[in-house]
Amino acid sequence: MIATAPAAPAASPDAARPDGTVTLRGVTKAFGEFTAVRELDLDVASGEFLSMLGPSGSGKTTVLRMIAGFEDVTRGSIHLSGVDVTRTPPHARPVNTVFQDYALFPHLTIADNVGYGLRVRGEGKSARAARVHTALEQVRLDHVADRLPHQLSGGQRQRIALARALILRPQVLLLDEPLGALDKQLREQMQIELKQIQREVGITFIFVTHDQEEALTLSDRVAVFNGGRIEQIGTARDVYERPQTEFVARFLGLSNLIGGDLAESLTGDRRTMSVRPERMRLTGADAPAATGEVSLAGTVSEVVYTGPATRYLVSTEAGIDLIAERPNSRHSAEDDLGRGHRVRAVWSPDHAARLP
Ligand code: ADP
Ligand code: MG
Repeated sequence: MIATAPAAPAASPDAARPDGTVTLRGVTKAFGEFTAVRELDLDVASGEFLSMLGPSGSGKTTVLRMIAGFEDVTRGSIHLSGVDVTRTPPHARPVNTVFQDYALFPHLTIADNVGYGLRVRGEGKSARAARVHTALEQVRLDHVADRLPHQLSGGQRQRIALARALILRPQVLLLDEPLGALDKQLREQMQIELKQIQREVGITFIFVTHDQEEALTLSDRVAVFNGGRIEQIGTARDVYERPQTEFVARFLGLSNLIGGDLAESLTGDRRTMSVRPERMRLTGADAPAATGEVSLAGTVSEVVYTGPATRYLVSTEAGIDLIAERPNSRHSAEDDLGRGHRVRAVWSPDHAARLP
């Protein structure tokens, strides 16, 4: 299960410490007639936390497996730390992979599980013990070294899988939905810990997920996948607030899309506007709109309480439905707008992303 990772072939004998950059150029993967990944270009910086986000079947795992070397590329090239590894076997690449299914050896102690990869490499006992200690400290589980896997919680076992990968000192760590098997509360806690661990160890993380909140929470940048292509890559704020395609606008949460004649009549521009529900204000039906804002009159047709916020579905006279969301901290129960209320949905075109 563990991908072992001996030192990478250095660019030159006295090269500086390898940097952990990842560069894909024109990477294509075909399975027979089916093309799973198309002409992919990707540059991951040293020490970056990059997420690959997309629906099931969009090619994320295939890209990860090509970077690890478990899958050949059909066309294109892959460089790790500036070295062409396109034809390098997996064990000779300076990467390691953490999977969702992180099977630990049930009869080995946690320390022996974590040190296993070093033992396979023939590392001596005392050197091994020191590095096991460091790796367990990195995931804050030094105190469970002598336990067996079944004596740990799911979240702790996942951190052990991380320690087992980190101990081999990869320049790049690949993680394929590693938190997918954990329940929501534990997953959110692990997200914060994973981010802290990554910052401390300072190596490049490439993290696959289909969960948009997880990608936004963890990443320096998010690459949004669709049908074997990257639709958009940028910071969490970029992809969420300035989606460049309808797919990205819809995949990263709720969005109001207003285009064509209606957009033109409101703003003089036909291009589709994407407006997030939390950017959409509701006012009384007769309240005047502020300068620079646009609005549509309508009727509240559904009210959904979500805890931190309340979501309103508004059926507009223009014929489209809009979603507006208000944080519950900003208004009291008394001014709740019920179904049937006549309102105006108001937004500023500055807060609308224009889809090209
Ligand atoms: P993701 O990780 O985004 O869910 P994958 O990279 O696993 O997607 O798969 C992308 C596409 O490639 C899917 O349609 C999948 O069925 C197909 N695929 C993956 N591996 C193989 C394979 N070994 N043979 C044939 N098709 C495959
Ligand atoms: Mg996958």
